[in-house]
Amino acid sequence: MPPAISSPPEPAPASAATALHADVAVIGGGVIGHAIAWEVRRSGRSVVLIDDAPGNGASWAAAGMLAPVSELHYQEEDLLELMLASSGLWPAFAADLALAGAGDTGYLTTPTLAIGADAADRRALMDLRAVQQASGLVVEPLTVREARTRESLLSPAISCALDIPADHQVDPRRLVACLQEVLAIHEPGAGTAVAGARAGFAVDQRAAALLWEDGRVIGVKLAHGGTVQARETIVANGLQAGSLEGLPVGLHLPLRPVYGDILRLAVPRHLRPLLTSTVRGMVHGVPVYIVPRQDGTVVIGATQREDALAGSGDAAVSAGGVYQLLRDAQVLVPAVSELELLECTARARPATPDNAPLLGRVPVSAPRTGNTANIAGLMVATGFFRHGVLLAPAAAAICRDLLDGRTDPRWGALSPARFSGKHHVAGTQSPDKDISSTKDLDPQKESA
Ligand SMILES: Cc1cc2nc3c(=O)[nH]c(=O)nc-3n(C[C@H](O)[C@H](O)[C@H](O)COP(=O)(O)OP(=O)(O)OC[C@H]3O[C@@H](n4cnc5c(N)ncnc54)[C@H](O)[C@@H]3O)c2cc1C
Repeated sequence: MPPAISSPPEPAPASAATALHADVAVIGGGVIGHAIAWEVRRSGRSVVLIDDAPGNGASWAAAGMLAPVSELHYQEEDLLELMLASSGLWPAFAADLALAGAGDTGYLTTPTLAIGADAADRRALMDLRAVQQASGLVVEPLTVREARTRESLLSPAISCALDIPADHQVDPRRLVACLQEVLAIHEPGAGTAVAGARAGFAVDQRAAALLWEDGRVIGVKLAHGGTVQARETIVANGLQAGSLEGLPVGLHLPLRPVYGDILRLAVPRHLRPLLTSTVRGMVHGVPVYIVPRQDGTVVIGATQREDALAGSGDAAVSAGGVYQLLRDAQVLVPAVSELELLECTARARPATPDNAPLLGRVPVSAPRTGNTANIAGLMVATGFFRHGVLLAPAAAAICRDLLDGRTDPRWGALSPARFSGKHHVAGTQSPDKDISSTKDLDPQKESA
């Protein structure tokens, strides 16, 4: 039975003076919000994307590995179906973006090599391979000689190599820029350009609160005044989703930051290409990866820290993290020491207790009868942790299905309400009242 969640006691006031109107409002402009916004647009709806710093959250740091196979972790097998589904959507997603007039997303189907440094790393990678194979995934051992034939700059001292052909990559920064490009295109007469929004879709402000009326969400109150009125609102602002005002009472979005340091480096001409495959290493028990881009740069990542650096913001880079990444990457590819360090970046991944996203509509149940309904006009899409880039096409497709009234039972386990407990919030719902529509959840009607 879904937990008791209801609309908040006080609907936020709407400011008619600066109201924008769209079919759908998306809060948060990371890869998830942008991908959803584009899918919404492709469905023929008008959309606004609300974010004062679009693309600057976790998506700015991401390496862009599309890696359902090498990202399979112990006890996260449930996520695999979603990761594989999204991986399967990626070729068409990238091709459609190009067809729609976007530039280069950096989507590449180059394979991945898993590399172990020492004997223990080899055992760990072979144990993981057993799990991957049990899930029907293709992970083929190579001899060190075979691996070095493919990648001549790999160290001769590595202990093992495994070929993972299904794990690919995209450049997340380019991806967001491409999505912005296509969102700014409005066919004449299509009616998709939202009056008052930059490029007909962008609202460069923070969302302050959800707006409610008659028990349904009707849009967004903006932080610096004004509103966006929309038939559907999608909460996709990553780590901050849980602190949005006006979330349904009782809805708990337990997001925690998992910080990651990541590096970008330029490969000198005489060393290009440094690699042709993505290399995912295990070096004395610590993971590290090197992702080669077509522009002659590589991305080396990424640490996972649960604690923020003292006194600094979420974007503070750990010196120890940078040291560890360069040290371990050089164990696998010694020429890393000859690269030019361009950028050290850190961001926080939006993680959930079970590492799966919070994705879908928000169900509510009547206290006594247990009858359920979804809160009208509201969806949540956050908590993508390590996989947001990979999962962006699937998240977009799932949201579009929900907008169109289709529910796929495969994704029911991702319900945003799954951590919200079973206790009802006092004073919001008559105990013996059946929920036949979300209108019945209007707290004002209850007190009337
Ligand atoms: C170092 C690192 C490496 C990674 N590598 C990969 C990888 O290789 N592959 C992969 O699939 N994933 C990877 N990830 C994970 C991926 O980056 C995230 O899962 C993904 O970016 C989440 O996207 P998002 O849109 O949900 O969140 P974000 O990108 O964090 O976007 C959230 C947006 O919401 C906005 N926002 C916040 N509050 C408000 C508000 N009140 N109103 C309006 N807007 C608001 C922010 O400004 C931000 O732009 C990596 C992450 C890190 C940190």
